Amino acid sequence: MFVQPVQAADDREPLTFGVFAFLGEERTRAMYQPVADYLNQTLKHERIVLKVLAAGELENALTGGELDIVTTNPTHFMVIRKQIPLTGVIATLVGSEAGQPQHMLAGAIIARADRNDIRTLQDVRGKVVAAPSLSHMGGYRSQAYELFQAGVRLPEQVARLDILGEHQAVVQAVLAGSADVGFVRSGIVEMMGREGSLPAGKVKLIHPQHHPAFLYQVSTRLYPEWPVFAMPHVKEHSVRHVAAALYALEPDNPAARAAGIHGYTVPADYQSVDELSRALRLPPYDRAPEFTIRDAWEKWRLFLILGLATGLLVIALSAALMLALRRARFEQSRSHGLLLSLGEGVYGCDQQGRCIFINPAALRMLGRNEEEVIGQKQHLLFHHHRPDGEVYPEAECPVHLTLDDGQVRRGEEWFFRADGSGFPVDLVVTPLHEDKQRSGAIAAFRDITRRKAMDEKLLHLATTDTLTGLANRRHFLAQVEQEADRIRRFGNLAALLMLDLDHFKSVNDQHGHAAGDAVLKAFAQTVQASLRKTDRAGRMGGEEFAILLPETTPEAARNFAERLRQTVAALPIDFENRSLSVTVSIGVTSLSPADIAPEDALRRADQAMYQAKESGRNRVELLLPEQPG
Ligand code: GH3
Ligand code: MG
Ligand code: MG
Repeated sequence: MFVQPVQAADDREPLTFGVFAFLGEERTRAMYQPVADYLNQTLKHERIVLKVLAAGELENALTGGELDIVTTNPTHFMVIRKQIPLTGVIATLVGSEAGQPQHMLAGAIIARADRNDIRTLQDVRGKVVAAPSLSHMGGYRSQAYELFQAGVRLPEQVARLDILGEHQAVVQAVLAGSADVGFVRSGIVEMMGREGSLPAGKVKLIHPQHHPAFLYQVSTRLYPEWPVFAMPHVKEHSVRHVAAALYALEPDNPAARAAGIHGYTVPADYQSVDELSRALRLPPYDRAPEFTIRDAWEKWRLFLILGLATGLLVIALSAALMLALRRARFEQSRSHGLLLSLGEGVYGCDQQGRCIFINPAALRMLGRNEEEVIGQKQHLLFHHHRPDGEVYPEAECPVHLTLDDGQVRRGEEWFFRADGSGFPVDLVVTPLHEDKQRSGAIAAFRDITRRKAMDEKLLHLATTDTLTGLANRRHFLAQVEQEADRIRRFGNLAALLMLDLDHFKSVNDQHGHAAGDAVLKAFAQTVQASLRKTDRAGRMGGEEFAILLPETTPEAARNFAERLRQTVAALPIDFENRSLSVTVSIGVTSLSPADIAPEDALRRADQAMYQAKESGRNRVELLLPEQPG
């Protein structure tokens, strides 16, 4: 029988398979070439051309329509999906961990078993935390999100965050007591147990989550592995062929073994990644404002465009600079002149991160002179800490990441001046090549102190009522929505209060509008002073206010309202040597897992408030949702 060689079928339709170079170009190619070869042996009508691309290159190739099938990590996928129209995911990678298939990954939060002071997520607050890397889904982000959900913010609310590079080092630090709490990926504790490097019962899991059919004990929800997706222009039958070939890849196939994977399965749900990125402000959500208010948006949009233009300018400048530097050997005087005249701060460093040049604008912003900087490690000199005072590990510095992988990076960073003061910068890092070899990196930055201050001012303006300083109506409603989300997830409960000042019109009529304003202010201050840290108050309009009390039973909320009512009634309000007084009618209701539609709760609280009015004012009324059945 004559066996047709595979190559003979090369009237096959070429499909370009773009792979994000997450391990660097060479190692990523070594991993994916066997998969591409396998596809080429399996597919009858299509021919796969592998293209391994760094982050920026991948987006460019996508927009240029050069790619047909693509795979990248889930967070990157979310970013791309926001920028370019894609069809759905056609397959999801099944990883291989110690010979076991790994469909999903999650994070474990561990502490030494004898630490009775660490039992819940709340106990992580104020502790020393160790993690392998800030960019690991299983080694940091999944845990950070779980803590975020529980109201614990990282890194702000922990004593220290140690980035140790490796999972094993994290477990060792927890055992040795140099860290109170450790973050590791699912499976690490079990693996160290099997290998004998972690005696049984030495560490415990915080916030254990039950995932049926998941092999490992974890503290977080599960996250999917890498998606494979097709671009909309690819013919449907080709998509079907590729998906089928991927699904058919068996774990003992040499290609799967060479790639170190178990195979591919049906598309996973990437919603969890989206939610996490949103909450932790990772790309593509790293610039999104927390609130969604249309009029604030109008202001922000202008602002974002401005920011973008600035960014483009910085990128264009650093690209121009790179060119100039390449020619430096021939045109030294010209590129030197360019450096001197730039308004952006620009410096360059060698592969070890030592400064090889710096322009006057950068020196001015950093409060340094050239002699102090040249030959020194830029990271240690002005990038050593984060704005919150935490040590910034060199391994996470964008300049060093670019020295490692040759990718262009851009983002907000924090630089320190010689006098120890810090300032926010917009930083673009571009790899530097000489004779096709990577030889260092160029960093271009500008001081964005004023922009940040403006951001904060805009945020404040958009969310706050100017007269009373309380949240405005929309912001308050957004907070109620957020609380309803938490209730949906965690099944706790909350109370909602609606407050309306009694006969307020007569205050205006008798004493004037300014007196009315003073009463509103004094009332708002009294409300604010009565709240716990997690409680929220808002001005709903005119002389109507609302209060949200998380984790509060209806009975406790009624008691709170009653105390507030009495405090307000007894409050003397000074206005131009007159002493005014006011009373308030309060409606109380609950938000519970059985009944969480915020509109219903608001309507009920309103109804209760009107009952209080009808029963004579200066009263508290409680109205609960009807019990089902
Ligand atoms: P009730 O006990 O039924 O609530 O009587 P009320 O007089 O408080 O009721 P009503 O809602 O009719 O009157 C509210 C008044 O509040 C009318 C409006 O002039 C006044 N008001 C609304 N916003 C402001 C403000 O910002 N400053 C001042 N000074 N007055 C305001
Ligand atoms: Mg009113
Ligand atoms: Mg009123």
